[in-house]
Amino acid sequence: MAEGKKCSLKIFWQRLQNVSSRVLFLDYDGTLAPFRKERDKAFPYPGIREILEKIQQSGKIRIIIVSGRAVTDLLPLLGLKNFPEIWGSHGFERRLPDGSLVKPEIDSKSQQHLESAYNWLKNHGYEKDCEKKPASIAFHWRGLKQNQQMELAGTIRRVWTPFTEDGTLRIHQFDGGLELRHAGFHKGEAVKQILAEYDSEVFMAYLGDDLTDEDAFKALKGKGLSVLVRETYRKTSADCWLQPPGELLNFLEKWYSYSL
Ligand SMILES: [Mg+2]
Repeated sequence: MAEGKKCSLKIFWQRLQNVSSRVLFLDYDGTLAPFRKERDKAFPYPGIREILEKIQQSGKIRIIIVSGRAVTDLLPLLGLKNFPEIWGSHGFERRLPDGSLVKPEIDSKSQQHLESAYNWLKNHGYEKDCEKKPASIAFHWRGLKQNQQMELAGTIRRVWTPFTEDGTLRIHQFDGGLELRHAGFHKGEAVKQILAEYDSEVFMAYLGDDLTDEDAFKALKGKGLSVLVRETYRKTSADCWLQPPGELLNFLEKWYSYSL
C-alpha cells in the first residue's frame, strides 16, 4: 500500500452490491474499541454496537470478530444482544453464534511452559500486566515509558526463549506488548478457514489495527479488502487505511446500506 493511502472504495461498493454473500471480519482492540490501560474497560466506540446490531438484523452480512483476546473476555466488552461468530485467542477458539465453542487441546508440555512463563512474570510483580489465555500468555506494557518497555521486552524475550526451542510455542510482538503463543494459530488461519467455506460469489473485508492483523491482511490479498484501522498510519500490507472512530463508523454504515 502506498504510504498513508486513504481508502477509495467506489469500485468496492459496487461489487458489494452485486455479490450474494458478504463477510466482514473485525478485530476488536484498537479497531472497534479504543485501547485502555484497564483492559476490562475497553468498550466499543460510541455507535459501534448500534451499527453492528443493525448489520446483524439485516441478515445480509456475516460478521466475524477475530481477536487476540480469549472469547470469555470479549463477550462482556462487546455487549451485543446477539453475538456474532467470534474467533478468540488469535483463532485458537471459535465461538459460533449458537454459543457453541470449538477449541483444540494443547499438549501438556506447552501447557507447562505457558504456566512457567506466567509464573515468572507473577513472581516478578507483573501479574496485573499479564493476560492468561487458552493457548498463550500475553504481557502488556501499555502505559509504561518507552525505555522501560524496551528493557522489559529484552528481559522477557530472554526468559521466554527457552520455551520456544522445540518450535511449539512462539514469541510474537503486538502493539502494546509481547505474547508467548502456541504455533499454528493466527488471525490469517481464521481467514483462510472462512475463505474455504465459500465459492467466488462472496466479498470479504478484514478490519484491524495490529501487527497480528497483518497475517489476516495477507491471507485476504487478492480475495477481498483489507483495511488498517488506526489513528496514525504505519507500514502495512492492508489495501487501505481508516482512522477510527469517524471513518470506521462511516465505512460500517456504507457496508450496511450497500448490502440491502
Ligand atoms: Mg487490535
